[in-house]
Amino acid sequence: GLSTTARSKAEQLSSDWKGTSATGGKTKNFIAGDFVESQATEWHDVLDPSTQTLLSRVPETTSAEFDQAVGAASQAYKTWSRTSVLTRQRFAIELQHQIRKHADSLASSIVLEQGKTFADAHGDVLRGQQVVESAIGITSNLLGDKIEVSKDMDTEVRRLPLGVCASISPFNFPAMIPLWSIPMATVTGNTLILKPSERDPGAAMIIAELCERAGLPPGVVNIVHGTVPTVNAICDNPSIKAISFVGGDRAGKYIYERGTQNGKRVQANLGAKNHAVIMPDANKNLALNSILGAAFGAAGQRCMAISVAVLVGTAQSWLPELAERAKALKVNGGFEKGADLGPLISPAAKQRVTGLISSVEEEGGKILLDGRNVVVPGYPNGNFIGPTIVEAVTTMKCYKEEIFGPVLVVLTADTLDDALDIINANKYGNGTAIFTQSGATARKFEHEVNVGQIGINVPIPVPLPMFSWSGNKASVLGDLGFYGKSGINFYTQNKTITSLWRAEDATGNRASVDMPTHH
Ligand code: NAD
Repeated sequence: GLSTTARSKAEQLSSDWKGTSATGGKTKNFIAGDFVESQATEWHDVLDPSTQTLLSRVPETTSAEFDQAVGAASQAYKTWSRTSVLTRQRFAIELQHQIRKHADSLASSIVLEQGKTFADAHGDVLRGQQVVESAIGITSNLLGDKIEVSKDMDTEVRRLPLGVCASISPFNFPAMIPLWSIPMATVTGNTLILKPSERDPGAAMIIAELCERAGLPPGVVNIVHGTVPTVNAICDNPSIKAISFVGGDRAGKYIYERGTQNGKRVQANLGAKNHAVIMPDANKNLALNSILGAAFGAAGQRCMAISVAVLVGTAQSWLPELAERAKALKVNGGFEKGADLGPLISPAAKQRVTGLISSVEEEGGKILLDGRNVVVPGYPNGNFIGPTIVEAVTTMKCYKEEIFGPVLVVLTADTLDDALDIINANKYGNGTAIFTQSGATARKFEHEVNVGQIGINVPIPVPLPMFSWSGNKASVLGDLGFYGKSGINFYTQNKTITSLWRAEDATGNRASVDMPTHH
């Protein structure tokens, strides 16, 4: 069963919020402003990953319910798309207040369902809140272009919403990723169908209620739960104009293909293998601590986690100390004091990661620090793996696959050029970092590394939302980002209007058939 803290948080959440349960009840859908229990025949269990206690059951939404949600979003679009930009800005302002006020509830839900530590869960919430804050700038950021292109003739660009949009999110950031799409889609005048991860939908349900409290009209944001059938319904429904997906390669490629084949705009953020290069001239404490935090925080279940360290030249002598410091990190239930990392999301994830660690030995690599048999007092049934460091080479499975667990693969390189060759040969391009005290080395790295998000002495260089996500290569499909200017472009389409208003009457009585050039 749950610890005393977890139990009291679970009871609190279940009584405070209409859409979510953490005491074994049902997670509701949110359709047309109502939290409704699904008539589904198939349900998915949400288990506390540190104990396997049943927290709630998530419906495989029926097609009739799905159609109701799309109907509500289509209906709401008619009025929401015509509300003033100030009304939409005010919603973002109010939502920001609500999130700040209820950050503890959101974080508790994340700890219970996802397993990350309470402090880290607050980071998940705050990163999402920052997108809401940037969306408050919509009154300036949506300004269009206009110029008098010819005498008495103006051309104006208006950035208009698309219609009903959909968002499909992963388990690893249950608040942040719904908070990429909710504010961006709505402040630009769209309505939204959100399908959260079926593993941890609680934070999204709390956010739905916060949207309601912030004054969002019914139907502007709807939440339907489910897995592949719901995803298929999203990809195929002709009323849905755009899909925002974040998750793994397999689902993302499938959704990208099916959605674009149906004429939708699709953006997909996918998997990653993020390398950190440590140069011999690096500040040692900064480098080692940054890398460990980024490798093992959230038990390695961040798409920007550092999963590979490339030690260059004499920096290789720091490896024993890296392992020593990793060993000091505390594995525990997310509500426990001093916990550094919690469990993996599921027993299946634990088994997959354990298998990948074992493959290192089978393929002739070395396990320097082995977290496979970690014992966490009080949590005998948790999906825990302790910090693990393996020495490997690029041909091994543990290097080629995304592990998505607390495993740091260590490679060595003689020079920066060798390190660059390794990174640039990798199929992914989400994030990377270099630790060095040389500006010239950093400059070379920035120019030559083919990865979209680069940290210089910064381990998880996720840009704040005034910029946008910019992973590249196999880490993305589609060409518009999730927030910032790029996100506004994703959620809008342009109309250009060219108009002529002239005081004098037109002269002559013969039509000109030449191509108008307005010169
Ligand atoms: P996932 O792909 O299993 O699930 C993501 C979503 O897709 C969920 O809503 C799920 O219900 C749905 N889904 C799963 N399998 C499907 C299928 N076969 N067909 C249709 N829909 C399907 O991903 P996850 O395990 O929840 O999340 C972890 C993955 O997400 C990792 O690969 C991680 O790198 C990636 N991720 C990437 C970013 C990024 O910004 N690049 C951010 C977070 C997570």
